[in-house]
Amino acid sequence: MHFRFDNTYASLPSEFFAPAAPSPVKNPQLIAFNESLAEDLGIDCEQADTESIARICSGNVVPEGAQPLAMAYSGHQFGGFSPQLGDGRAILLGEVIDKSGNRRDIQWKGAGPTPFSRRGDGRSALGPVLREYVVSEAMHALGIPTTRALAAVSTGENVYRETVEPGGVFTRVAQSHLRIGTVQFFAARQDIENLKVLVKYALNRHYPEAIDSENPALALLNGVMNRQANLVAKWMNAGFIHGVMNTDNMSLSGETIDYGPCAFMDHYDPARKFSFIDRGGRYAFANQPAIAHWNLTRLAEALLPLLAEKEEQSIELAEAELSKLPSLFEPLYMETFCRKIGLPRSSEDSWALADSFLDLLRDRKVDFTLAYRRLTEVLEAGSNGLLELFSDPEPVSRWLDDWKQTLGKLHIPNKQAIQLMREANPVYIPRNHKIEELIEAGKEGDFSLFHRMNEVVAKPFESREKFSEYELAPEPHEVVPATFCGT
Ligand code: AMP
Ligand code: MG
Repeated sequence: MHFRFDNTYASLPSEFFAPAAPSPVKNPQLIAFNESLAEDLGIDCEQADTESIARICSGNVVPEGAQPLAMAYSGHQFGGFSPQLGDGRAILLGEVIDKSGNRRDIQWKGAGPTPFSRRGDGRSALGPVLREYVVSEAMHALGIPTTRALAAVSTGENVYRETVEPGGVFTRVAQSHLRIGTVQFFAARQDIENLKVLVKYALNRHYPEAIDSENPALALLNGVMNRQANLVAKWMNAGFIHGVMNTDNMSLSGETIDYGPCAFMDHYDPARKFSFIDRGGRYAFANQPAIAHWNLTRLAEALLPLLAEKEEQSIELAEAELSKLPSLFEPLYMETFCRKIGLPRSSEDSWALADSFLDLLRDRKVDFTLAYRRLTEVLEAGSNGLLELFSDPEPVSRWLDDWKQTLGKLHIPNKQAIQLMREANPVYIPRNHKIEELIEAGKEGDFSLFHRMNEVVAKPFESREKFSEYELAPEPHEVVPATFCGT
């Protein structure tokens, strides 16, 4: 297995990271390897057998050209600031240039302790490895910016959490692992020189069009705002709850990162949260735009020393920039929900109709994904499966009448509406109860459900008879009430 490493982060000043070698595991066994992603990354594995891939993707062997290191960062966790976090159970191998010319990070998760591990063991349980593999690849197939899964390996060792769990190592690929928390790290230390270095580095990697901007820090804030507004709109459009939007888990590239306590909603509930540790519902579904705003405000604060000469001026600039966020987010959010009901957003009526459909789902606790899918089938096949999701079909029946009238009034042909809806409404999401099922089987050494799920979510918009059970909402006894962080 040969990587064409082209590392840049390791050449940044020493404050940015700590060298960190992976600690070998007892018996690495390859569970999954993402061959198409490997090819995209220019990784040559033609000669490599399963064992040698497992040795590299567990950290037992450090591939040639890798410069293993742990990145330094800070972060606001559930609102409280931790000045010293950093990769405690992740180690960056290095960067490669992919086939499209983009620089990508490759990282092990769970390959042993680093100088930033504090009291943690630097390890990961197998359950979170399988979850991140499945969910991040599903997000990619849904068209939502995300880190990717290159490999999952079981270690043959146990990790000790609330219970004894089998261990795993996950190999993650990202545009970069720079976070809002990375900027906060240098701001908190008033290390202005390195703050400048970081801004330049981040612009170079993610916003090269803004590299010559007169105000690089402002350009970075603006870029991250745009990407995160787009990201959160996409999450919500898919019924996704990130679950742990701490500033160290919000990437400067605008990709979804950190699949700890995430979940796709079953029934629609704006107040829904899954994370076991999120007691107050800070990261509940409908709070996500406000939390993104809060996080971006922390980013702006961290950039203040670079925005202008005088602090007052910096604050003025930051406030003016941040005030644009709702006007970036709301049109995207509204448009995506209009497309889910077959309407290109062209009028206030469209949004009112999209919003009233959400109200119906909320009031009747109807499954989010299934409802939009069944609505698509109303036009596709004249099916009345949607009505069956409601105990009292009367209000939704009336809504359907309004909807059909609006489609007519806006002169939207059925064909066009169906096309929009098929593209916006997945048939398959990685449902929580199915994830639990595959994790439980995986802990017993049976990965067949894990592989099956990967096959299902790889084509989320294409209905396939043999996977029909993956379309369905959980039965009451299958509902997963909470997800765990898995740290
Ligand atoms: P997370 O909850 O994954 O965002 O992690 C928050 C912080 O805790 C990060 O600095 C992680 O590196 C660190 N951390 C989480 N789990 C472990 C672990 N098992 N060992 C060491 N550090 C950890
Ligand atoms: Mg994290």
